[in-house]
Amino acid sequence: MAEIIPLTPGEASAPQEPFKPGACKLHPQTMCPAFGALRVLSRIEGAQPAMVTDTGCLYGLTFVTHFYAARKSIVAPALGTAELSGGKVQEAANAAIAEAAREQNVSVIPVISLCVAETAGLAEELLPTEVDGKPVVLVRVPAYAIHSHPEAKDIALAAVLRRFVDRQSDHEPGALVLVGEVFPADPLLIDGVLRKMGARVLATLPGRHVDELRLAGRGAAVAALHPFYRETVNVLRERGVGVVTGAPIGAAGSAAWLRAVGAALDLDEDVVERVAAEEEETARGFLAAQPLKGATILVSGYEGNEMLYARLLIEGGAHVPYVSTSIGQSALTAADEAWLKTHGTEAVIYRKAIEDDQAAMKHWNFDLVIGTTTLAAYAKERGIPSVYYTNILSVRPLFLAGGMIASLSFVRELLNRRPLYERMVEFFAADGAE
Ligand code: SF4
Repeated sequence: MAEIIPLTPGEASAPQEPFKPGACKLHPQTMCPAFGALRVLSRIEGAQPAMVTDTGCLYGLTFVTHFYAARKSIVAPALGTAELSGGKVQEAANAAIAEAAREQNVSVIPVISLCVAETAGLAEELLPTEVDGKPVVLVRVPAYAIHSHPEAKDIALAAVLRRFVDRQSDHEPGALVLVGEVFPADPLLIDGVLRKMGARVLATLPGRHVDELRLAGRGAAVAALHPFYRETVNVLRERGVGVVTGAPIGAAGSAAWLRAVGAALDLDEDVVERVAAEEEETARGFLAAQPLKGATILVSGYEGNEMLYARLLIEGGAHVPYVSTSIGQSALTAADEAWLKTHGTEAVIYRKAIEDDQAAMKHWNFDLVIGTTTLAAYAKERGIPSVYYTNILSVRPLFLAGGMIASLSFVRELLNRRPLYERMVEFFAADGAE
């Protein structure tokens, strides 16, 4: 077990003035949002993406897709200035779709339409809906309309779900559909607890096969574990699937979520209450030690689930005055934002910019920064322990008592690393002075 180094009392000073975000919001500071759509779609077995955009976008998106998604080739027309000015977008798109259909083992062709194709006027009604029996699904994710890659994941998932969701069969009693790119152990943890209540996880979306999309329509309820799956939830709601908002996060949050699932699935109230109380008791037993007490932590990311982590850190005893995310504010973010603001969070920034995060770092003294690579580098230069949100935090279990214990124990270890970071600053300062 790692040694716990107590934080100096008063290390995190209270600000005198309210925090003012001052960054320019005209320029979204995010990778191309289309990456989110490509990630979701290229991971579906049998999906052969056809991407309609110019060659510059294609180069970058092919790279990140191979790196972060499925190492799957993307079929795309070569659209340069000559083709665009010559009005060849529609023909080029149709040729790419025909080429995608000739690939091996194709079960669906998502056509990803990006800034250039949308601006050049790609017409949906002139695209085929099927080629050689293979469904063609248009996914429109230009960056001027979809501002972050999590939100592009939602648009992509909703588009394929609309095409494949099973509209004929009945809803299966006690079957819950989870929505969110979560750590693989999380659905198993959730399923284990649901089974104690007489329910189960039917599917976790975005899935790896179109059969999971078909199955989702048979759920009795859907739970969007991440707050940016608005369109996806709407597709299932229209199909008559009940909706559970929020996520099983922390002690009170997990118990409340289990009760909401119980109500949505019409489960035995006494059994649900017993299981919810057990979960809450296990979580509170761990939280009693307040493993993060005295720490002031900044949470910033572009995954869209930052507020969930902030809630967990606060329950662990930390002060989290500032949370920023790349997603926009919506009805699905309202409950988490309200919870945070009643538990000491002074600023929740949507559509964040690095300037907002840097302003927050000048405003508060942080003991740990969980942020983007740019922000983590900025914090390291100041000797503050910092980690890249996506690769370090998002790759651990998060939900229910089990996920909470795993995540908070890890954060406690990160806080203990401060002397290492301070030594690093001293080393480079000494090196520069020579
Ligand atoms: S032009 Fe649009 S589609 Fe192309 S890389 Fe930029 S944001 Fe992405």
